[in-house]
Amino acid sequence: MAGRNFLFVPGPTNVPERIQRAMMVSMEDHRSPRFPQLTHAIMAGLRGIFRTQGGTPFVFPSSGTGCWEAALTNTLSPGDKVLAASFGQFSYLWIDMCRRLGLDVQVVECDWGTGVPLQQYEDILKNDIHHEIKAVLVCHNETATGVTSDVAGVREALEETQHPALLFVDCVSSLGCLDFRFDEWGVDMAVCGSQKGLMLPAGLGILCASPKALAAYPSSKLKRAYFDLQDMQQSNAGGYFPYTPALTLMYGLLESIKMINEEGLDNVIARHHYLAEGVRAAVTQGWQLKLCAQEKRWHSDTVTAVMLPEGIAGTAVIARAYQRYNLSLGGGLSKVAGKLFRIGHLGDMNEIHLMAAINGAEMAMLDCGVQVQPGSAAAAAGHYWRTHEAPTGLCAMPSTSASSVLQSKPETPAVQV
Ligand SMILES: *Cc1c(COP(=O)(O)O)cnc(C)c1O
Repeated sequence: MAGRNFLFVPGPTNVPERIQRAMMVSMEDHRSPRFPQLTHAIMAGLRGIFRTQGGTPFVFPSSGTGCWEAALTNTLSPGDKVLAASFGQFSYLWIDMCRRLGLDVQVVECDWGTGVPLQQYEDILKNDIHHEIKAVLVCHNETATGVTSDVAGVREALEETQHPALLFVDCVSSLGCLDFRFDEWGVDMAVCGSQKGLMLPAGLGILCASPKALAAYPSSKLKRAYFDLQDMQQSNAGGYFPYTPALTLMYGLLESIKMINEEGLDNVIARHHYLAEGVRAAVTQGWQLKLCAQEKRWHSDTVTAVMLPEGIAGTAVIARAYQRYNLSLGGGLSKVAGKLFRIGHLGDMNEIHLMAAINGAEMAMLDCGVQVQPGSAAAAAGHYWRTHEAPTGLCAMPSTSASSVLQSKPETPAVQV
């Protein structure tokens, strides 16, 4: 097909050319005296992205799912009770993994489109007077529904009830995009992967463990081998790995960390919010469609799930977008299969990028019989972006404001014809 594929699934995300180039390296000896430099630089960089000083980052050749397992098996024992809420495919899958590993999960079933139920968590923790709950699980950003949850609120519930449970957070589709504070929120295990906000190909599982989580290791009895944190920690201390690390991805990760730091983590977060607001304007004001996220406090700045009108098959819209317009949108998973489509707006992204996604989605919807006003998405998103100040990461020349463009005299062409 002519032109490029427009990738808007909420992971894997677009890999910037700079990162692609950084990964074009020859293989090297991962036991060489030089190798630890790379490891140490990555670990220091990850601490910054997690916003932690005391936390220990881990990098596994894996994906996010592997680190879900690492978090559980290195801290808990068979039959241990954990508290979790199910409000989307990813929060559900972590619960499913807990059960397969032999944990006793107390599940709070929530509407898809809502986030972690703070009051229920607090009530359950308050009633757990013997402290049988060993860990509380939170999916920070439910990628299946475009819902962001209040992790700080869960920490408050733990404090309020003086409950000693560990706090485990899935930040696979939030780290490096949404505000995430490992130390400030008292997170004990944070689970991430490479192919979402970190703008890398899939292949790395990234974990961060608090001292309290690591202290639970010696007494935890779940089986672990490949994901054993002690093996990893011992090798990592010298800058090495217990088995062959994913070298090219690690060079990519170092570049990704550099890019995030050059833009500034706060600016990256602000950019994600600004872009997401434009997409939400396109959906709700332009198309007059509903978001899956039921309330503003749950709006995700990394993925927008768009509810389709009754009688329209989401799968048809997604297939049309892909087959006719070379645009990849995310589908509805499980309970919301066929009812929605998702636009991922995380990682390497700007306004014009997103204009392609919303216009492509609009054309695909029109082709499938959805009664939306042609051009309405671009009008609404464009209005939002033109009338709000752009975060620095989006401006090639930050000093050029719209008004100065309007006032400036037309430039003399460099070449007179
Ligand atoms: C993508 C995703 C996962 C799964 O990660 P993999 O890297 O595919 O194993 C888990 N949780 C959330 C919230 C995700 O978005």
